[in-house]
Amino acid sequence: MAEFTMELNDEQKEVRDWLHGFAADVIRPAAAEWDEREETPWPVIQEAAKVGIYSLDFYAQQYFDASGLGIPMAMEELFWGDAGIALSIVGTGLAAVGVLANGTEEQIGTWIPQMYGDANDVKVAAFCSSEPDAGSDVASMRTRAVYDEAKDEWVINGTKTWATNGGIANVHVVVAVVDPELGSKGHASFIIPPGTPGCSQGQKFKKHGIRASHTAEVVLDGVRVPGSCLLGGKEKLDERLARAREKAKQGGERVKNAAMATFEASRPAVGAMAVGTARAAYEVALDYATTRQQFGRPIIDNQGVAFQLADMRTQIDAARLLVWRASWMAVNGKPFTAAEGSMSKLFASETAKKVTAQAIQILGGNGYTREYPVERMHRDAAIYTIFEGTSEIQRLVIARTLSGMPIR
Ligand SMILES: Cc1cc2nc3c(=O)[nH]c(=O)nc-3n(C[C@H](O)[C@H](O)[C@H](O)COP(=O)(O)OP(=O)(O)OC[C@H]3O[C@@H](n4cnc5c(N)ncnc54)[C@H](O)[C@@H]3O)c2cc1C
Repeated sequence: MAEFTMELNDEQKEVRDWLHGFAADVIRPAAAEWDEREETPWPVIQEAAKVGIYSLDFYAQQYFDASGLGIPMAMEELFWGDAGIALSIVGTGLAAVGVLANGTEEQIGTWIPQMYGDANDVKVAAFCSSEPDAGSDVASMRTRAVYDEAKDEWVINGTKTWATNGGIANVHVVVAVVDPELGSKGHASFIIPPGTPGCSQGQKFKKHGIRASHTAEVVLDGVRVPGSCLLGGKEKLDERLARAREKAKQGGERVKNAAMATFEASRPAVGAMAVGTARAAYEVALDYATTRQQFGRPIIDNQGVAFQLADMRTQIDAARLLVWRASWMAVNGKPFTAAEGSMSKLFASETAKKVTAQAIQILGGNGYTREYPVERMHRDAAIYTIFEGTSEIQRLVIARTLSGMPIR
């Protein structure tokens, strides 16, 4: 197991500086435009693909870095550039991780390259779990997958919502119910290959923030996919369902609790995105406070302003430490006995919301306009306390983990 360290090594610093350069030179200058257009920034994704940032190889290298700092460092830098564009760049990773975590080697080799495409023809992928009546309550999912044994095909019907890249993705990964009796343990993930009849985009959402990232409903109407599109394969699914049925006999609540902890390991990455946005807003505010003059002196000369900046930086550093700790634990297989993954996401996302609001205050009237980026950063920051589990759900996971009680 790698020792926990708070110091990036030389190689990691090189990668960080390279990513920072891309975020500063390519992402940040494009941020306001794509926020206004509310469209996927395909040219920026293509630029990222050309230099090797938009690829599975890049994320795999960071993911397998035993220090655990690779992914949080990469997320922080890209989201420092701009959250909406960065989510367009890393959103495919959600679907890719779904395949990596559950797929066979053949499925990984077949589908992940089709998720990314190549620098001349970039593609994106979508991970579709949430539904109109199943957001925090994943176990209420209704999208149904039924096996047609005669044809060795799965038939999928339902409506997914809030899917990042939903409908514009080349490959969709869809979570569906295969055994309604088992709650979230009766779910399985399926690949929906490009151009599959019956899979279409529903409503595209007009959002408060991260507007360069496409979010839409995905409608699955009599979608038929070959048996080979069930991630992990039928034999493994049947074994897993048999085990879950056995466990369910011991108490349904345990089955439900497990669902809330499912994303625990991926939550530090979202925390790192929040740290990136918070740091970006803090830097703008610090710069503004040292240059803006009122009453014949820079506004930072007032404790009322300087102390806000002191608090902002302290909270950002504290958030990063929680994220790095959780990420190191996840990579090194240390169990989250105090829900450290959820802690990191909870603290970092709430920090991003708070810090970006303070940044607007420090910039005064300018902070409230689209001439300055902190207004956009504040709108963007609001997503971190919602997706990958709301702040309330993080608190629920932490409280349940600490107490062992089925707190509601
Ligand atoms: C921009 C965006 C992108 C997204 N991308 C994806 C994606 O790519 N794939 C995907 O599958 N999903 C995605 N999501 C969905 C996201 O994960 C859900 O929005 C989130 O899980 C919350 O679900 P909900 O919106 O239905 O809210 P609800 O679950 O209805 O929650 C509403 C409120 O009630 C609170 N609440 C609910 N239950 C409890 C409880 N037990 N205790 C206390 N409070 C509670 C919540 O905290 C929240 O404040 C995305 C969402 C957004 C907005």
